[in-house]
Amino acid sequence: MRDIVHSFDVTAITLAGLRKRFAEGGTVALDDVSLEVKSGEIFGIVGRSGAGKSTLIRTVNLLERPDSGRVTVLGQDMLALDDAALREARRGIGMVFQHFNLHSRRTVAENVAFPLEIAGLSSAERRRRVEEILPLVGLEGKRDAYPAQLSGGQKQRVGIARALASRPSILLCDEATSALDPETTQEILQLIRGLRERLDLTVLLITHEMGVVKAICDRVAVMEAGRVIEEGRVFDVFTRPEQPVTRRFVSEVIGHAVPAATIARLPAPRAGEARRLAQVLFAGPNSTRAVVSEASRDFGIDVNIVSGRVDEIAGEPFGVMALAAYGPEDKVQAAFTWMRSLGLTVTEIAA
Ligand code: ADP
Repeated sequence: MRDIVHSFDVTAITLAGLRKRFAEGGTVALDDVSLEVKSGEIFGIVGRSGAGKSTLIRTVNLLERPDSGRVTVLGQDMLALDDAALREARRGIGMVFQHFNLHSRRTVAENVAFPLEIAGLSSAERRRRVEEILPLVGLEGKRDAYPAQLSGGQKQRVGIARALASRPSILLCDEATSALDPETTQEILQLIRGLRERLDLTVLLITHEMGVVKAICDRVAVMEAGRVIEEGRVFDVFTRPEQPVTRRFVSEVIGHAVPAATIARLPAPRAGEARRLAQVLFAGPNSTRAVVSEASRDFGIDVNIVSGRVDEIAGEPFGVMALAAYGPEDKVQAAFTWMRSLGLTVTEIAA
């Protein structure tokens, strides 16, 4: 008989069958959502506005109570906790907000210490924690500044320090970089990634920007209308997006807008034939030239590479290429179908 081996439970957050409707007959914010976030990973939830991301992330610390389903955090059934136990559990879950939510009349140090004050820590212990955390977020020297004296990026660093002051093992980020410019966004994302390593954090973030997912997430779930419609390793989702919504998100980031001037220079199709432009994603710097020449030969069409580049996610390369295919419409479509059967993601773009 085989032994049943129980492996160490490395799941940090389990959401199972979550449903939430804010009003009788109103829209369903969460429609049977299940997710597992592993300990130590950075998990992203991406979706358009109204998809249910914010409602979902807020169920983790029960800022939002689901109508039904289970929320398990570090092995604890959150919905079974009484008020005192829930307060205690929440100290293990830090949260960062889009608009920082800082007290304008408190200094940086006072903002960071605020949750510790609520938790009843002595002033000596609060000071110790603040001195410990400020250098980790790059705010040494700013302890006595007021929020109005800080840049957006610095304000979010305060928000992160405050979230980490109670030494949580889970960090929830609710559109943490959406109010920041692109350069500051990258700085804050790299900070979060570094803190994950240094403090052994599990990070769950929500965003409407696939660029955030590409920059730091290990896995991603795509939400639409209260449901998770696609989920996987970031590399897999980027190179082989299955749902149309996901494809749109992915193409926003690696999308390859072919300049109008380039399109204008492309030869016109012969009379009665089609010219189709397509963006092709492929994992690894494989022999795309072979795909192009095989498609040309086997389908009796002309396929030209308009542009191409190799991008990288978490150190793994993948290619993005724009192709122009000329020939009878049915042959061109058959060639695209054949490329898809090889595992390439082929998306037609306007020609
Ligand atoms: P996202 O974060 O993806 O933008 P939300 O979770 O905020 O989506 O919203 C999901 C749906 O739930 C939307 O239809 C939204 O209007 C609704 N909703 C969210 N919060 C509330 C609330 N407090 N009261 C009523 N409806 C809400």
